[in-house]
Order: sequence, then C-alpha cells, then structure tokens
Amino acid sequence: MKVYNLACPLDHHFEGWFASEQDAHDQQEQGLLRCPVCDSDEITRLPSAPRISKKMAEPPVETVPADTGNAMVLSGNESAKLQAQIQATMLKAMRDLMQKTEDVGDNFAEEARKIHYREAPERSIRGQTSADEAAELREEGIDVIALPVIPALKDTLQ
Ligand SMILES: [Zn+2]
Repeated sequence: MKVYNLACPLDHHFEGWFASEQDAHDQQEQGLLRCPVCDSDEITRLPSAPRISKKMAEPPVETVPADTGNAMVLSGNESAKLQAQIQATMLKAMRDLMQKTEDVGDNFAEEARKIHYREAPERSIRGQTSADEAAELREEGIDVIALPVIPALKDTLQ
C-alpha cells in the first residue's frame, strides 16, 4: 500500500491510501481523487517520499488498548479502500460537527460550565481545553467529548 500526501488548490492537505502508484494515477485520471474538505478534484501530490507499508506479506497486527473490545484487521486492497472511506467519512462528520457547534476557543471550560448551570443559552460548543480541565468538567456532569485531531481540518471551516 502507498500513502501519498495530497493537497487541493485551497491548500487542504490530506493523505491518500492507494494499492499502488498505478492505482493513484488511475484514480486521479478518473477524477475519483477529491479533496475531502472542499470536494475539489484538482489534487496535487506533494513531493514527500511515499510511505510504503512494511509488512504486506505478513498478516497485519493491530494493537488495541486493553479496555476496548472491538478491533479489525483489513488486508490488501480492502484496507486501502476502507481506510480512504473511513477518512472521508470522518472528515465529513467532523465538518458537520464544526458547522453545528460554536467555536468558543480558550473559553471552552468557562462557557461549558455557564451552559451547564444555565447561565448561558443552551447550545453546542467546541474549543480548547486541557485534559485536566476536561476531567473536572466531566466530574461536574458535563459531557465533554475529545475530538480527534485531523490535520486537514486544522485551518479550514470556521
Ligand atoms: Zn480542499
């Protein structure tokens, strides 16, 4: 499997997983290669060396944290396709979330408390907080969700 760093004209950076160099070429030719953020099909490959997965011949081993139950192992083409799908789906979900939440930046903890104690209008917010602060908020009964860091979304949609 090959992983390429890709970018669109709006400078959204993302990774693409391909079965081979040829596969990447074909997908681009057919316009299947699209930016998961803005849906542009003018994708350029960035000049970094592709990472090639080391253990194609051996069964892949996935490590799972001790306290979780679900895991899966994907092989070959399936893996490349599914990972690309998962990435696109996650980006879309994140984009939806971004649009439905108000960015309160560093005031996240303060704002979350205000909403919880009904000192501010009830709404969905997002912002930055420390792990400690997030733990305190949870102790107060506020449902804080940690968001995955997706580089392609970093400086996009506000
Ligand atoms: Zn884009």
